[in-house]
Amino acid sequence: MSIPIPPDSHFPIQNLPYGIFSTRDNPTPRAATRLGDTVIDLAVLDAAGHFGKPYGFFADASLNRFMAAGREIWREIRQRLTDLLSDGQAKLPPTTLIPIHEALMHLPAQIGDYTDFYASREHATNVGIMFRGRENALMPNWLHLPVGYHGRASSVVVDGAEIIRPRGQVARKDAPPEFTATRQLDFELEMGFFVGPGNPLGQPIPVETAGEHIFGMVLLNDWSARDIQAWEYQPLGPFLAKNFATAISPWVVSMEALTPFRVPGPKQDPEPLAYLKPASVFGVDIHLEVSLQSAQMTAPQVISRSNMKHLYWSMEQMLAHHTITGCNLRPGDLCGTGTISAPNEDGYGSLLELTWRGEKPIQLPGGEMRTFLQDGDTLTLSGFCRGDGFRVGFGEVRGRVLP
Ligand code: CA
Repeated sequence: MSIPIPPDSHFPIQNLPYGIFSTRDNPTPRAATRLGDTVIDLAVLDAAGHFGKPYGFFADASLNRFMAAGREIWREIRQRLTDLLSDGQAKLPPTTLIPIHEALMHLPAQIGDYTDFYASREHATNVGIMFRGRENALMPNWLHLPVGYHGRASSVVVDGAEIIRPRGQVARKDAPPEFTATRQLDFELEMGFFVGPGNPLGQPIPVETAGEHIFGMVLLNDWSARDIQAWEYQPLGPFLAKNFATAISPWVVSMEALTPFRVPGPKQDPEPLAYLKPASVFGVDIHLEVSLQSAQMTAPQVISRSNMKHLYWSMEQMLAHHTITGCNLRPGDLCGTGTISAPNEDGYGSLLELTWRGEKPIQLPGGEMRTFLQDGDTLTLSGFCRGDGFRVGFGEVRGRVLP
């Protein structure tokens, strides 16, 4: 018996991502990996001794203890899974294999803290031009540190969540602010990464070893209400405009699986300060795609194509900066990269940029126009790395807008 893998699948043997799932027959959430369209129950494999000694953490309802275990154990388990699934599939008990359509996916981790960065120079420049003009597009700090803010962990949701249009205060010209449903609901195309082993309070993570603290990555949509944001954001940054939903894809692709796709990052000029300056700066070559389907449309339409390799700051630099004060990170903490905009206009990572604050509406097949999202719209992020004859992908993160 062997597990079929469609040729353009995001989940070949080179991927082996981790997620948390349950089924109707066994509603207890537990850990799994995925091969093609088959979910493989890791709790059963672990209990049956397929990883040597039983670890126990795959029976948990989150990956936190596995994330905390560190790189050596991640590598050991990945190697065992690769061996087992490459040529030992016949040995797998049938109860370990579940068709993907029978699996209900849950959040992969219990997320204690969520931090969102702003690491795309193109995005920061575009937003800066719109809000402050071309002369002052990048703030003076931007080239010296990875700008970020502490987000809201409780409203991180997994693929498929319905997004209820939030209400809040919106500024009016020559009148007091009004209380209204947002008219400028937007997405942000981001990648998220999960913290593995954390650091004790008071001990920063050095940039050179920061990679050991990164477990893996997911797609991330930082849902945003632009009109609420514009009124509330000064001087402390976004608050309610971004705390109603942050959506992630359910399968965490490990850094081991992504290693072949790491590429040198853009040149950093001026040189970062020493604590942010590793011997080399590496991004990840991940092809990213955003598609939109309105209630009337019969198929989704791609509205943007970008790539994570465009990011200016690396994930390692973000972690080193995050902890330089001694701030402690914990296993399962989630970091967002910030909106990933490509240099070209058709690769911008938000509707704010794609429509240039509503000045250039997007036309959808069937004639509908969009500046921001309408009720009934489904927004999907997708991403994959291109190998030689295979893809290591993230699947999708979808969300439908409700009134
Ligand atoms: Ca964001």
